[in-house]
Amino acid sequence: MADSKTKKRCSFCGRSENEVGFLITGMNGYICDSCATQAYEITQEALGEGRKRAGATKLNLKELPKPVEIKKFLDQYVIGQDDAKRFLSVSVYNHYKRLLQKDSGDDVEIEKSNIIMVGSTGTGKTLLARTIAKLLHVPFTIVDATVLTEAGYVGEDIESILTRLLQVADYNVPEAEQGIVFIDEIDKIARKGDNPSITRDVSGEGVQQGLLKLLEGSVNVPPQGGRKHPDQKMIPVNTKNILFICGGAFDGIEKKIAQRLNTHVVGYTASQKTATVDKNNMMQYIAPQDLKSFGLIPEIIGRLPVLTYLNPLDRNALRAILTEPKNSIIKQYIKLFEMDGIKLTFEDSVFEYIVDKAVEYKLGARGLRSIVETIMMDVMFEIPSESKKEYKVTLDYAKQQLEKANMARLQTA
Ligand code: ADP
Repeated sequence: MADSKTKKRCSFCGRSENEVGFLITGMNGYICDSCATQAYEITQEALGEGRKRAGATKLNLKELPKPVEIKKFLDQYVIGQDDAKRFLSVSVYNHYKRLLQKDSGDDVEIEKSNIIMVGSTGTGKTLLARTIAKLLHVPFTIVDATVLTEAGYVGEDIESILTRLLQVADYNVPEAEQGIVFIDEIDKIARKGDNPSITRDVSGEGVQQGLLKLLEGSVNVPPQGGRKHPDQKMIPVNTKNILFICGGAFDGIEKKIAQRLNTHVVGYTASQKTATVDKNNMMQYIAPQDLKSFGLIPEIIGRLPVLTYLNPLDRNALRAILTEPKNSIIKQYIKLFEMDGIKLTFEDSVFEYIVDKAVEYKLGARGLRSIVETIMMDVMFEIPSESKKEYKVTLDYAKQQLEKANMARLQTA
């Protein structure tokens, strides 16, 4: 006891000051660094367990956004794509209703309707998913199907799709079990070629079989994901109530649609439009059998009953994308300049010119940003050091900047 008067000791492990890293002083005692660390770990674990047991957040249908409201919200950020927006809005709303049905107590069980969206690259599939995430009341995550390969091959296991969802839900399993997962680039796991007997189709049928289990059933999810943590304890997750939204470009599927519709794709042009089939936008006629011809197995298609499409972006859509969405590319640049106290304006003809270039180089909506970036680079470099209060981008300046930059570089972007 005499010792305790002279030497400070950790009140938890009893070690003296010189036996530990450091001591933290409290009102009536001390705690050493290693005991503090242990205490932190115990707290975290207990909180985690608590969260797992906590159950899912209760939803209230009256407070949830209705399909019309969801679509209005999407309209603020995504140009056009009305069909896809309507399908998404209804599906998300029905997803909420399905989650609420548990409490209703009758025999009618609403089953889920996973969605598949088909549309060329850069038409807004991921943007739709990201935007809808902003107003969701359940955990949501976007995963890329290209990282998946069959177990045993290099790559992520199918189950790791749900790892992100668990993380978003803070490892609250019941909460994750009512979440929404967006699987991007689903077409990348299509069977290559029509021959179902291909044996070593790494990212094909095997992955689809795995995905099938994931779409309806219970899986064990590695909480840290991947294979880097072989000894992690798997967490069982029931996917029955998880809504899956899939998206893919399905390059070349137009041909399959055309074959089915018995029209000739070869040499089609705008002038050859017929009264019944709009050959410039074959995607709108997509049907489940086209997905099968493309290489998705029928079981997967059956579990993605809501099929919708995105339109190709025409000149008008590209022009609108440039300035209309709530966080349009141009609005973002205006804000950047505003932060330096500079009022940025554009001649209207500059926008037309940007769209012309995007169309000319087949850059699509993704290319709009790289074009604007190229035009603005020099100004952004110089103007913050100058004393100007406003700056107007003229057509001449835009042309000069783009010509100066290597357009070939843009083409490959
Ligand atoms: P994908 O269909 O390949 O998933 P994205 O959603 O990633 O395409 O679109 C790429 C970019 O193009 C978006 O970040 C957005 O800036 C722009 N974009 C594409 N389509 C639209 C659209 N319909 N409305 C507004 N912006 C769009």
